[in-house]
Amino acid sequence: METRRLFPPDLFAPPRLRGDAEGKGAVVPPSAAIVTLAAAGLIIGSFLNVCIYRLPRRESVVWPASRCTSCDRPLAWFENIPVASWAVLGGRCRTCKARISVVYPIVEVTTAVLWVGAYLAWGWTPLLALRLVFICALVVLFAIDLEHQILPNIITIPGTVIGLAASLALPPGWTSSAIGLAAGGLFPFAVAEAYARVRGRVGMGMGDFKMLAMVGAFLGWPLIWMTIIIACVLGVVIGGGGLLISRRGVWATKIPFGTFIAVAALICAFWEGAVIEGYQRAIAAYLTWAGFV
Ligand SMILES: [Zn+2]
Repeated sequence: METRRLFPPDLFAPPRLRGDAEGKGAVVPPSAAIVTLAAAGLIIGSFLNVCIYRLPRRESVVWPASRCTSCDRPLAWFENIPVASWAVLGGRCRTCKARISVVYPIVEVTTAVLWVGAYLAWGWTPLLALRLVFICALVVLFAIDLEHQILPNIITIPGTVIGLAASLALPPGWTSSAIGLAAGGLFPFAVAEAYARVRGRVGMGMGDFKMLAMVGAFLGWPLIWMTIIIACVLGVVIGGGGLLISRRGVWATKIPFGTFIAVAALICAFWEGAVIEGYQRAIAAYLTWAGFV
């Protein structure tokens, strides 16, 4: 095999270059890559379910083996097959008949879809490996924040370190990554501190800032800025709407902002070009409307 092909010239190209995902000079045939990433995504998604359930409960994610959360019986191998086990067992434990949440197969399928999407976006490149890790972190943070309104440090802090370290060799480059980290962590923190001083109450949690720092380290500048804007829009529209509909609902005390950050970060990672162009158009349209231009 030619070593040249293992290190394609567009290694350091911007993520929107699709390269060998289109089959040009592919190291791995696209169909094989898609099947592999779909299967691996389902299996990793199954592990992410363990993280989503155990991390907020401060349990180990590696020991003991998977158990029914209702009757505590260790699961047999055939009860651990992603999606298929849930479907065959009708969403219930085989012995105690307790309901098994539909969230489990949803997380598995979502992870697989995002992994295949990542391959289609970034090809069989070193950047793909980094983005697969990023996707896993976002899936876990999305689900844990939605249910518990917390964003565990065990995900966000190592995530920030990995994003910054990888940027020494991969997009967006270390300067962009460092600026993104600082902008994601410090700017919203400063705004929230000012808000807390003025209004005397807390609007965002420390977990939100750490998650934004992590996203900034992975995506760099200016995508962290796009992520914050999109997350805020989602938070106001969906979160605000949810608060109005159910005053005593799950979001009565705190909007799961990390859930919106995760969605916004995925939008920015996958549609980088379109997001930045849309932002520039919106700014230009506003300036024209306001009479500045
Ligand atoms: Zn059971």
